[in-house]
Amino acid sequence: MLADSFGRRIDYLRLSVTDRCDLRCAYCMPPEYKNYDDPEHWLTIEELARVAGLFVELGVHRVRLTGGEPLVRARIDNLAYLLGRIQGLEDLSLSTNGTRLAQWAPALKSAGVKRLNVSLDTLSSERFAQITHRDVLHDVLCGLDAAQAEGFDLVKINMVWLPEINGDELDAMIDYCRGNGFVLRLIENMPMGDAARSLGSSSLQSVIADLRIRHGLVDRVITGGGPARYLASADGRFSIGFITPISQHFCESCNRVRVSVTGTLHLCLGQEDRLELLPMLRQGASDSEIGNAIKLALMQKPWKHEFQELPQKIVRIMASTGG
Ligand code: SAM
Repeated sequence: MLADSFGRRIDYLRLSVTDRCDLRCAYCMPPEYKNYDDPEHWLTIEELARVAGLFVELGVHRVRLTGGEPLVRARIDNLAYLLGRIQGLEDLSLSTNGTRLAQWAPALKSAGVKRLNVSLDTLSSERFAQITHRDVLHDVLCGLDAAQAEGFDLVKINMVWLPEINGDELDAMIDYCRGNGFVLRLIENMPMGDAARSLGSSSLQSVIADLRIRHGLVDRVITGGGPARYLASADGRFSIGFITPISQHFCESCNRVRVSVTGTLHLCLGQEDRLELLPMLRQGASDSEIGNAIKLALMQKPWKHEFQELPQKIVRIMASTGG
């Protein structure tokens, strides 16, 4: 069992397969962004699979593929296939912006991906282009149709809460998700990089209170729901989650670590503590040597992020960490 020095069990890995993305979301990667990782330092598909396997041996049983945009990585279907065959990995999921999902959904499903998180901040083409700097809302909606047709266990829609831009679309998003059987999740903007910081972060607490009353929603516990707190309709057919790192952090129940595409093990999304796995992977370290290094590094996992207290602290963007 993998645990940190506070006794928190770590059973969830977010594995980034690229720091590149085909969108330029205002809260993540600014249009002029150039700080990309050198492809020579990217973990190969086989190295990514080895890292995932090592974590599963150590006690992780859920892995999420992420990025950047994971569906721009060549051979993503091969990687999903390799991970789908790791004994002991109970849950393989993927986060995507959905632009290429129509093309990839069948291959991902047959490789063993069970659940998808799809980013969608607006249902308006104009606003989509304003937020992401790309006019491809139609592609994302087609991707979501394809995901639904494939019958993934669960599709969650991630909507970053930017009240001045998408605040008036909450009811429309609820209708869209309810109609399609998707779980909606609202996320407070985290101060990662200057672009995100410049947008500020609005608390979701009053939104939660308002939705309870207007939509008659009640508390709901979702297994594997991670840091989100959930409300659901009385008939249980619609759920909405709230990820509130700023207004109500959930670090005490943190169960995850992240590995970037360059093999950096990030022990906390909002701190700098890390372990570089690439040198060990490329210099012939054995599985048990790497496993021991990971276990030791876990002892340095910080108690909490400081997005609220020190919003200037994290210069790296979400896409380079693996969101
Ligand atoms: N491209 C994939 C996607 O869109 O899901 C995976 C990577 S993306 C960085 C993962 C998630 O992080 C997305 O839902 C995105 O909206 C979210 N995200 C990025 N920057 C954020 C920020 N500053 N605050 C909150 N969420 C952020």
